[in-house]
Amino acid sequence: MAAFIYDIVIVGAGPAGAVAAALLNKQGFNVCVLEKQHFPRFVIGESLLPYAMDILQEAGLLRAVQAAGLGFQYKNGFAFSWGDRYTSFSFLDKFSAGNGTAFNVQRAEFDLLLIREAEKQGVAVRFGETLKKFDNEGETVLLTVERDNGDTYDMEARFVLDASGFYRALPRLMNWELPPETVMRQVHFTHIDDRITSPKFDRNKNLVCIHPEHRDVWVWFIPFANGRSSIGVVGEEHYFRHESTANILKETVAEIPFLAEILADAKWDNGFPFRYLPGYTTKGKGLYGRHFALLGASGEFLDPIFSSGVTIAVHSSKLAADCVSRELRGLPVDWKNEFAVPLTTGVNAFGSYINGWYDGRFQDLIFDVDKDSELGRMVCAILAGYAWDRENPCVRDSQMLFA
Ligand SMILES: Cc1cc2nc3c(=O)[nH]c(=O)nc-3n(C[C@H](O)[C@H](O)[C@H](O)COP(=O)(O)OP(=O)(O)OC[C@H]3O[C@@H](n4cnc5c(N)ncnc54)[C@H](O)[C@@H]3O)c2cc1C
Repeated sequence: MAAFIYDIVIVGAGPAGAVAAALLNKQGFNVCVLEKQHFPRFVIGESLLPYAMDILQEAGLLRAVQAAGLGFQYKNGFAFSWGDRYTSFSFLDKFSAGNGTAFNVQRAEFDLLLIREAEKQGVAVRFGETLKKFDNEGETVLLTVERDNGDTYDMEARFVLDASGFYRALPRLMNWELPPETVMRQVHFTHIDDRITSPKFDRNKNLVCIHPEHRDVWVWFIPFANGRSSIGVVGEEHYFRHESTANILKETVAEIPFLAEILADAKWDNGFPFRYLPGYTTKGKGLYGRHFALLGASGEFLDPIFSSGVTIAVHSSKLAADCVSRELRGLPVDWKNEFAVPLTTGVNAFGSYINGWYDGRFQDLIFDVDKDSELGRMVCAILAGYAWDRENPCVRDSQMLFA
C-alpha cells in the first residue's frame, strides 16, 4: 500500500484543477493536487468569459478573485474590427441567464490565487511534484510522483482527474494523443505597455482585429488594468515572413490601421519576452476511462479565437466533479452521457463557430447581425461562454447561424 492515500488526486493546479479540487473538497472528499511547477508561473489564456465566473462562484472561488485587488481588468464584452468596420457586443445583452461580466487576468497571479483559495478550503496542494507513472488496473489507482530533487514516491487514489493542460500528462502516459485534425496555426505574442489614450478604444472590452487582406489572420488585444495589454497574432506559417516574433507582431500591427492608430505610443520592450507557439490544438482518443477523466486542454483544445479555453476547462471540472462524487459514493455513473457527451456539445458549438470564423461566415455574421435582435443576443451568449445553454437555439443547432 502507498504511503499517501487520497479519494481524488488532481494533476495540475491551473483553473481546471483548482475548480475541480474546490468542488470535490466542498463535498467532503479528501483531495490532493499535484503541480509540477512552482507558482506563480506564466501560462497563456488571459481573457476569461462570464460563464467561467458562474462556475468560479459555484466552486466558492469567485469572491477571492473579486476581493484580490490584483488589478484584474473588468470586462463586459468583445469588440471586433476589420478594415473600416467595427462592432462590439455587450455581454449584459446576452440571451442566456448568468453573469454578464468577467475579467482579463495575468494568469500567473490568477492561478496562484485560485489554488491558494482551494488550499485554504482544505485541499492538499503539492508544488514541484510531477506525475510520472499511472496504473489504473487495480481497485484503486497507483501513481508514481517525482519531486524536484529527483526522488520518487508512490501515491494511491480512488480517482484521478488530469488537469495538466497542454502538457497532457495522462494522454502521453497512455499513448492517447492524436495528431491535430485542423490546419496548424502559429501564435506570436507578448505583453506591451499600451499607452492608449484614443477614445476609440474601450478598455472594458477585448479587441479582436482581422487582417485587412488575410481574413484568417487575426490579432487579440487583451487589456489589463495596469496599463499593459496582451497582444498576439494567429495565422498559418506562410503568412509570417519575418524570423523574429517581435518583428512579426510589429509588422502585423502596422498593417492593421485601427491597431496602428491606437498603439501609436505603445512601448514594446518592457521586460516581458516575445513568445511563439508553433501550434496549439490538442485532441485525444477519449475523455475518460477506468478511475480517471481528462479536464480542459488535457482532453481537447481547438483554438483561442473566442477565449473559450478556461471556460471549457472549468466547465469540464464541474461536470467531472459531479460524476466523481457520485461514483465514489457507490452510485451509478454514465461517464459517456453525463460527462463526455454534454462536454462535447459545447465544445462542438465553439468548434462550428471557429470553423465559421476562419472561412469568414462567422466574421460576416458578427458585423452584420442586429445586436438587439434575438439572434444577436444568442450570438452574444456564445461569445460570453454560454455554449452549454440548451435554451439557446444556436447551441442546439450550431449550424443555424450559417443557414
Ligand atoms: C495562444 C493561446 C491563447 C489562449 N487564450 C485564451 C484566452 O484568452 N482565454 C481562455 O480562456 N483560454 C485561452 N487559451 C486556452 C488556455 O490556455 C487553456 O485552455 C487553459 O490554460 C487551460 O487551463 P487548465 O487548468 O486546463 O491548464 P493549465 O492552466 O495549463 O494548467 C496545467 C498545469 O498542470 C501542470 N502539470 C502538467 N503536467 C503535470 C504533471 N505531469 N504533474 C503535475 N503537474 C503537471 C502544469 O505545470 C500546469 O500548471 C489560449 C490558448 C492558446 C494556445
